Amino acid sequence: MMVSISDNIKKDFPLLQSKMHGQKLVYLDNAATTQKPQVVLDKLLAYYQNDNANVYRGVYDLSQRATSAYEQARKKVAQFLNAPKVEEIIFTKGTTQSLNFIAAGFGMNNFQAGQEIVLSCAEHHSNLVPWQNLAKKKGLKLVYIDLNTDGSLDLKDADKKIGQKTALVAINHVSNVLGTINDVKSLANLAHKNGALIAVDGAQAAPHMKVDLKNLDLDFYAFSGHKMLGPTGIGVLWAKSDLLDAMTPLEFGGEMIDEVGLYETSYAKAPYKFEGGTPNIAGAIGLGVAIDYLTELGMDNIQVYEEKLVTYLINRLQEIEGLEIYGPKKRVSGIVSFNLKGLHPHDLATVLDMQGIAVRAGHHCAQPLMAWLDVPACARASLYFYNTKEDCDKLVTGIIKSKEFFENGF
Ligand code: PMP
Repeated sequence: MMVSISDNIKKDFPLLQSKMHGQKLVYLDNAATTQKPQVVLDKLLAYYQNDNANVYRGVYDLSQRATSAYEQARKKVAQFLNAPKVEEIIFTKGTTQSLNFIAAGFGMNNFQAGQEIVLSCAEHHSNLVPWQNLAKKKGLKLVYIDLNTDGSLDLKDADKKIGQKTALVAINHVSNVLGTINDVKSLANLAHKNGALIAVDGAQAAPHMKVDLKNLDLDFYAFSGHKMLGPTGIGVLWAKSDLLDAMTPLEFGGEMIDEVGLYETSYAKAPYKFEGGTPNIAGAIGLGVAIDYLTELGMDNIQVYEEKLVTYLINRLQEIEGLEIYGPKKRVSGIVSFNLKGLHPHDLATVLDMQGIAVRAGHHCAQPLMAWLDVPACARASLYFYNTKEDCDKLVTGIIKSKEFFENGF
């Protein structure tokens, strides 16, 4: 595989060749999910055609091949994240399940009534609702770090809110609405100084930048494969091994046991303890190929490319009268949320769709953040390395056309 970021890279993605309403598709909803390169699609088919068997179950060659490919994928994830140990990589369904595992498997058993979970109001519901549920069950308090007026996290307020009562800081690495990147290393430091832990929702970070877990010194990290070229239904939970030892499994059954008696069972060690039942073998293998592809491109190259592209997009969007962009002026990640005065974002997204442009409109699973922005919803364009300036130009032209359409009719 020899790939590099260029205008040609779209050729690797069959769906990006397709048309929508007679126009070449401009796909700008990468924060929701990304398109898949041919190599990932080929691997899924090849796995089912040539290597399909259940893992860990058989001594026969085919089962061992499937097991080895599955475990190879785990190694790739560990390397991709620079994780201290490969056994710390748990395959899950995705970010949501990973975060729920932390709340119900760790928080439920290790946090005490009266302790606090520190969050921000810019969390995706997946990094909010599990903590609300845990807080109710355990008598914990939820505390929110303020945002600055531009939507970035107020680190001075973080210093005030993270204290002796904090059990856990649960925060996004990159906001799925504002595109802000949180300084999770400093927050980890602050949490640890206070004897607390930190769980990071990396759903919008892992696909777009180098995540170096050894350097960041976090406690838990979660992300989804489908937002980084991989299949749906596969994701990752990483946690420090001593925390995984203190965490109980949430799904009980085959594969997660050590010994089973009629009344008592001892569990396997991590990661198997958390992967009860037949796992998503093909999904993990597909994610492994996605990681190879991203690694070949270089995560630093991806981040630099997206930063340049988002800066271009924001400059162009600013030309449109009546368009309000949310989040900090200087954007380094490829997510831009906005509203056009007088037009509901759903209407805007529908008219853009008619022009072959896919953007998302709604609350983006971040209703408290919509309340903070004081809007019911917004439109969001989210870029990936296969997007181009031409895509950004088409979006700008599309928005201007939509505006004219609603003002004057076509
Ligand atoms: N957190 C963030 C920041 C996200 O953007 C998303 C996906 N929109 C999630 C969590 C949930 O990811 P998934 O639906 O793959 O579990």
